[in-house]
Amino acid sequence: MTIDWTLRARDVVAGSLLSGSEALALLAAPPADHPDILAAAAWLRRRGFKMSVKLNYLVNVRSGLCPEDCTYCSQRLGSDADVLKYSWLSPDEASAQAQAGVAGGARRVCLVASGRGPSTRDVERVAQMAEGIKAADESIEVCACIGFVDEAATARRTRASTLTTTTSTPRAASTEICSTHTYDDRVETVTAARNAGLSPCSGLIIGMGETDEDIVDTLSDLVALGVESIPVNFLMPFEGTPMAGRWDLTPERCLRVLAPETEIRIAGGREMHLRSQQPVALTIANSLFLGDYLTSNARPRPALASLRPPHRPHPARGHRR
Ligand code: SF4
Repeated sequence: MTIDWTLRARDVVAGSLLSGSEALALLAAPPADHPDILAAAAWLRRRGFKMSVKLNYLVNVRSGLCPEDCTYCSQRLGSDADVLKYSWLSPDEASAQAQAGVAGGARRVCLVASGRGPSTRDVERVAQMAEGIKAADESIEVCACIGFVDEAATARRTRASTLTTTTSTPRAASTEICSTHTYDDRVETVTAARNAGLSPCSGLIIGMGETDEDIVDTLSDLVALGVESIPVNFLMPFEGTPMAGRWDLTPERCLRVLAPETEIRIAGGREMHLRSQQPVALTIANSLFLGDYLTSNARPRPALASLRPPHRPHPARGHRR
């Protein structure tokens, strides 16, 4: 399929979104098409979001100790990865950490807890954290990423404005990637967020051996579900997880998965996989995380050399969801 990406971008603005076969053609296009694809995507991004970049800041309110077994995650059941393990931060501790991100320019704070889902007490903790952050600056958006939430009333009680579900993995491969929850569990959380009037957010992770069809199917599902923000994670193959040693991504592949139809947030692994192309990625994506990720640092540190692959300049330790 030969596509003029410049003309196609104009049709997208007129309401004709890419079909599945066109999205597949974009992912598989030859290297000679790469500049045209980037230019078309950047043009779309500027039409929809101008040159703004939304800054997000993660507060890891509960770390490690997760009973789930997502193969990409250093906090998973049985992981011997060297990550921090602690139970819930107090609301004051979470607010104090959030202020560091806000002082750095973040307009959204993401409260992230490991685990399958919150208890009633956990929902109260998150609500207190959200209220504390809002009390300091009511313009800050608070996002809760606290595992599976299956009822709108529970989602509402978090006092968050956005509810994020764990990273979306392709439906076809989801049982190989995780045996303790299903693709439909994630869909249920997105639905609960939407029914509660919260903004649904659900991320994508690439680099785990997925096919182009898997990526297109997953993104199509997220769009059909009304997901308003899509963090795109690039696999960091952390030692101690089953994904250790998996280095499938190139900067070009990472860039092609980013698209400006919704809020696309460049998430974990950007330093490692986009490398010198990070500024280029922000001509396409419109949102990113400030500071460190859940179990990894945003910048290389000497003690983290164990993850450094032979020719990769930006190591990190783990993965965000
Ligand atoms: S991605 Fe979330 S649910 Fe899965 S193992 Fe990690 S912390 Fe647990």
